[in-house]
Amino acid sequence: MAKLSIKDLPLKNKRLLMRVDFNVPQDESGQITDDIRIRASLPTIKYALDNGVSKLILMSHLGRPDGEVKEKLRLNPVGQRLSKLLGEKVCKLDDCIGPEIAESIKKAKERVVLLENLRFHKEEEKNDPNFAKQLASLGDFFVNDAFGTAHRAHASTEGVTHYLKSAAGFLLDKEIQYLGEALEKPVQPFMVILGGVKVSDKIAVIENLLPKAQSILIGGGMAYTFLKAQGVKIGKSKLEAEKVDFAGEILKKAQQLGKKIVLPLDHVVATGLDSPQTAKIINDVNIPDDLVGLDIGPKTIKLFKDELKNALIICWNGPLGVSEIKEFSRGTKEIMEFITNLKAVTILGGGDTAAAASQFKLDSLVTHISTGGGASLEYMEGKVLPGIAALTDR
Ligand code: AMP
Repeated sequence: MAKLSIKDLPLKNKRLLMRVDFNVPQDESGQITDDIRIRASLPTIKYALDNGVSKLILMSHLGRPDGEVKEKLRLNPVGQRLSKLLGEKVCKLDDCIGPEIAESIKKAKERVVLLENLRFHKEEEKNDPNFAKQLASLGDFFVNDAFGTAHRAHASTEGVTHYLKSAAGFLLDKEIQYLGEALEKPVQPFMVILGGVKVSDKIAVIENLLPKAQSILIGGGMAYTFLKAQGVKIGKSKLEAEKVDFAGEILKKAQQLGKKIVLPLDHVVATGLDSPQTAKIINDVNIPDDLVGLDIGPKTIKLFKDELKNALIICWNGPLGVSEIKEFSRGTKEIMEFITNLKAVTILGGGDTAAAASQFKLDSLVTHISTGGGASLEYMEGKVLPGIAALTDR
């Protein structure tokens, strides 16, 4: 069911309560080391201001204070950075609920108010109805623009929607539009690329997407468990021994469903992750006993390209090798370059895949990079995300 967007709300002279993801990394001295999350929320914030809200009340969590006030996790530096980026003053408050907070919002001269870290109250993560009601009382409408926490039913993501008409901000809307719609009713040929270290992290994704996708291409550390299930020698490569049976069953199921699971044919190997100077190509599917597979080889790159060339939607989670290290990054880089030149809709999910895209300067060339790690994985698993499900239906 389509959800209300911020564009559907009559914002003029209304108080808008907005959940944002300002969970930014900070150094020891509290300096923000990367403000991409604050900058990403600016379009929704500016839209609300340009459309005449009387007050914009922003709320977020920061780190894991576990229900206690932790001085280092106050949102003051975030408020200062936001104010700088917006070019107008932001009123930062020292708490997020209570009559004094409501009064301070009323009296504030600034249009933008930032509440204190929601997780200073244990009621936030418990989705306590009374806490949610107090938050909701601060606004006339609610907008959620924090995809990173949409897979959690917290007071500020799910609880408040019981009291206010609730809509998606631009960031959340984009996730629903691309990730949600692509996965729900994919246009065929729909292909999935999976990599990263662990099969166990992606089991539910494979189970959900196997019936929907035409092919699933598997690389990265997780490919070796699948190769092992086929009786291939994998040397000292990553193996989840307890998942070999699962991998074998999935390969069988794919065959029954007429789906393709495409696995590496050759590899870039080394004596270990810490010895990139020993990197070399093994022109064979089998890996000698003393070597570790750390990237897909050139034959596999060609195989993956041949498979992907007709795709209309490509969804990718997890690098195809240890892409942080130059010697093991070629597979991920070449395949990413290749898909950005296709006419396919390309959707990347997961922190490492997003990092690879920006490392290779391809981030602006993919259709959509999903920002929430856990949330995008759960979306790919076919789970209902409570923060999205709870928004008002259109
Ligand atoms: P994940 O969080 O499961 O998506 O895993 C991402 C990590 O997988 C990245 O840090 C990669 O360096 C790592 N990775 C990818 N391929 C391999 C491999 N063949 N062996 C070990 N680690 C790998």
